[in-house]
Amino acid sequence: MTCHNYKDLMMGYLDNELTDEQKKQFEEHLSGCPECAGELEEFRKLKAITDEVTLVEPEDRIWQDYWNSVYNRIERSVGWIVFSVAAILLTIYGGFKLIEDIIKDATVGMLLKVGLLALIAGLAILFVSVLRERLHFWQKDRYKDVRR
Ligand SMILES: [Zn+2]
Repeated sequence: MTCHNYKDLMMGYLDNELTDEQKKQFEEHLSGCPECAGELEEFRKLKAITDEVTLVEPEDRIWQDYWNSVYNRIERSVGWIVFSVAAILLTIYGGFKLIEDIIKDATVGMLLKVGLLALIAGLAILFVSVLRERLHFWQKDRYKDVRR
């Protein structure tokens, strides 16, 4: 076989697609032909680069999608958390104002005072519960994403 014939085997050799017989022939030729050996080295480098490119590219995209979805979810969760915290603070503030007025007002009965306190406490608990639910679902989503 001439060098030209062996060049056809080169890509097959790099891709590990040659039969044992072809592989042996090719390696024997390489040991006696620096030209083909040098060319094989060039092909090997080229192949390493193209393999890297085809491997890295989709991986990058997956990571980008992953971080985009994580970012979206964090954004939404943060929105909920800020909303919940603001609602709790406003409720507590409003509640204290209301309590202050009611406590000062001697004409308001004790039962009504206790009832209003319970109402405000209940609202605050509801908001905390919503917040905890959001955090819980967010964590579950995050694990789902990691598994995928
Ligand atoms: Zn050769």
